[in-house]
Amino acid sequence: MSDVMESDKALSRRALLTGGTALAGLSCLGGCSTNPATGQDSVTGFYSLKDDVKMGQAEYPNLIRAFGGAYDSIPLQSYIARIGRDLASRSELPELPWEFTVLNTPIVNALALPGGKIAITRGLLAVASNEAEVAGVLAHEIGHVTARHTAQRQTRGLLANLGLAVLGVATQNAQLMQLGQTVASGYLQGFSRSQELQSDTLAVRYLSSASYDPEAMATFLSSLREHSQLEARLQGLAPGVVDQRNMMASHPRTIDRVRQAQAAAESAPSETTARLERDTYLSAINGMVFSDDPDQGYVRGRDFLHAGLKLGFQVPPGFVLRNGTSQVTAEDRNGAVITFDAAKAQRSRTLAEYVQNEWTQGVNLSDVQAINVNGLSAATGRTRLNTQQGVADLRVVAYQWEGTQLFRLMFLSPARNASTYGDGVRSTINSFRQLTDAEAAELKPLRLITVQAAGTDTISTLAQTMPYGALNDDWFRMLNDLSPGQPVPVGRSIKVVAS
Ligand SMILES: [Zn+2]
Repeated sequence: MSDVMESDKALSRRALLTGGTALAGLSCLGGCSTNPATGQDSVTGFYSLKDDVKMGQAEYPNLIRAFGGAYDSIPLQSYIARIGRDLASRSELPELPWEFTVLNTPIVNALALPGGKIAITRGLLAVASNEAEVAGVLAHEIGHVTARHTAQRQTRGLLANLGLAVLGVATQNAQLMQLGQTVASGYLQGFSRSQELQSDTLAVRYLSSASYDPEAMATFLSSLREHSQLEARLQGLAPGVVDQRNMMASHPRTIDRVRQAQAAAESAPSETTARLERDTYLSAINGMVFSDDPDQGYVRGRDFLHAGLKLGFQVPPGFVLRNGTSQVTAEDRNGAVITFDAAKAQRSRTLAEYVQNEWTQGVNLSDVQAINVNGLSAATGRTRLNTQQGVADLRVVAYQWEGTQLFRLMFLSPARNASTYGDGVRSTINSFRQLTDAEAAELKPLRLITVQAAGTDTISTLAQTMPYGALNDDWFRMLNDLSPGQPVPVGRSIKVVAS
């Protein structure tokens, strides 16, 4: 959870919906223009480039906030901005007010707003192996901007509903629920495959002009795929299920299509000028925060701890915790879901009234009662619901923090397993607590460090500081482009994780 106090504030729908979204299917009635990047007539003509710039400028701060804010490192921000501006200056629209921001989130993604506002996550930077791969990602996003894809895109509506309104969706698919409750979901809707191919073709053009090796787009895509597979395993999802916040979901691409784009660009760089800049890159990301930032809340096994808000709780055995932008979720294999988020009481005088009438409006709760948990006032209630997945037990708890600021836990579990969940739900409710200043100060982020591999290093010794348990070795290999069975090359710079 980042900036959890503001998590109820949804993004401006209007600004997102003005991106020319109602225009798909219209023929050109005086609103057409020829796009300088693609050379095609487009149906974005009712919306001028000026409108693109206005929309991008208005939404950029929201996008940055929704993804954990800008990463706090001036040298890294200016390094990435330098790469981005150089590529943009070689595009068909160099005069746009281009901006590039590294986002403070472990999610692996990159996003473009119309008018030249681009964001790339530190999670993505951790996966990339060299400057050329990052340049490939930025060039691809620049391609979405210059081809004006967002203005063409049909927005399928923001799923910004919070709380019980999405319970129907929740029981259908826990991942969808996560997406539905992410305030930033509007940004994560995927582009079409033809738009992706067009962006890749443009990216090859920009990359070649800046003398980068366009092959880096293919190598990065293969790391991305490996990363998605590991994420799926980590979350207990079926292999091949892609996290909706991941770059593979918002930019559906395959290596074949990237190669097709390379061929279409017809501008292969000469061998001598194909830059990778591996060492420059590894020294630029040396010391970067890896995985969750404790100030945004982080997951350690079954514990969720938040150094910024100074709070923590523990979920029952068998649940996998996940820290989202606006909420924390935990799921088990039987379809039980726990969500944790922040809210403000708007009109209720008591917590019980809030739980009964304000939060779960329209749901008939029973056993609503005031409780005290580790010195905090709280109120809880429960009910049984019919969902698409069958009968489910719902238990809600609201904890009073300061004034009208509340934190909330919601448990949804299949009623057929009611007896197995009782103890776990109770212990989770009772585990919610304030952290002491000393406890909060103890929570330090992991960092990515570049080291030279020595002869005595093995994958297992180098990977043991990763936060992924049984998947540590696989993560280490993915971060360092090592195939299964391949030993650590002595003397090579590699990425390790240190606290
Ligand atoms: Zn894309």
